[in-house]
Amino acid sequence: MEIHGNASVRARLSRAAQDARLHHCFVFEGPEGVGKFSYAMEFAREINCQAALNARPCGVCDACRWISAGTHPDVLVVSPDPEKATPIITAAQAREIVNSIQLQRHSAAYRVIILNPADALNEEAANILLKTLEEPPARTQFLLVTARPASLLQTVRSRSQRVRFGPLSEAEMSAWLTERGMDHALASAAGGSPGRALALAGGEAEARREVLDALCGAVGQPLHALFSFSESTSKNAEGGAERAELVLQVLEELLADTVALANGRPLRHGDREQLLRRWARGMWPDGVGRMQQEISLARDRLRLNVQARVALEALLAHLNLELSHVPA
Ligand SMILES: [Zn+2]
Repeated sequence: MEIHGNASVRARLSRAAQDARLHHCFVFEGPEGVGKFSYAMEFAREINCQAALNARPCGVCDACRWISAGTHPDVLVVSPDPEKATPIITAAQAREIVNSIQLQRHSAAYRVIILNPADALNEEAANILLKTLEEPPARTQFLLVTARPASLLQTVRSRSQRVRFGPLSEAEMSAWLTERGMDHALASAAGGSPGRALALAGGEAEARREVLDALCGAVGQPLHALFSFSESTSKNAEGGAERAELVLQVLEELLADTVALANGRPLRHGDREQLLRRWARGMWPDGVGRMQQEISLARDRLRLNVQARVALEALLAHLNLELSHVPA
């Protein structure tokens, strides 16, 4: 995928690479999720690509492919061990970097060492690296990625050159979302950070799945089970009303599927067909209309600041009533 944003920063680095006047240690700093690490990988490809200067990185030569796959022997990405409780880049990892730099390069124009995030270097590890950071062998390129440059040791900072990345503009963010077929409504909440947009999209998908599971599970249960569901629903979110609206939306989708099933049309929630068959037996056609009225009523109540729990309880009790005469 194409990298979006920070075009002038990237152009400046490309020119420096083409003129072979790169500082040996760059700190890529800027907000979380704006593409600093993605660009560090892109830059590693760019300076090692085997294609013509104006076509780098080509993405298809051996160097480009190996770097993308994480298998290039001369390109090292160092991150904290995810198994460890505290995410630090350790002294052992730092020694590994120093040792690897002594070796002959395999095939790359530049040996590249990416520290992600560089602020995870603890003091001991940083001290092991200092001499190498000061005077690395020729054609060694350090890329230190961080959203917290102030947390880097002064001794590390003084040996490197800062490259500042910023959030994506509205137009860049919009292009990025379009490329991935993602909802443009995410743009404002993401604040110019594709990483944040991905996290939000994942969170929303997860919330929907949770609601769908809870809703399908709650139907046909004794009333107290419904109440505990609506209680946990309204407690669960920062905004109970927002969460309640999600419940209403998922319920509307299930009702639409009930109609679709009765008419032999394809289902949105095909994996819930068994439940939907029961709904169709219990509510098609009149009950569906009544449920839709209940949903509008619940929406009105939420707008009037009725507690989300109360509004949902009434709605779910009605749903249970509609289905009470259909065996599970
Ligand atoms: Zn290439």
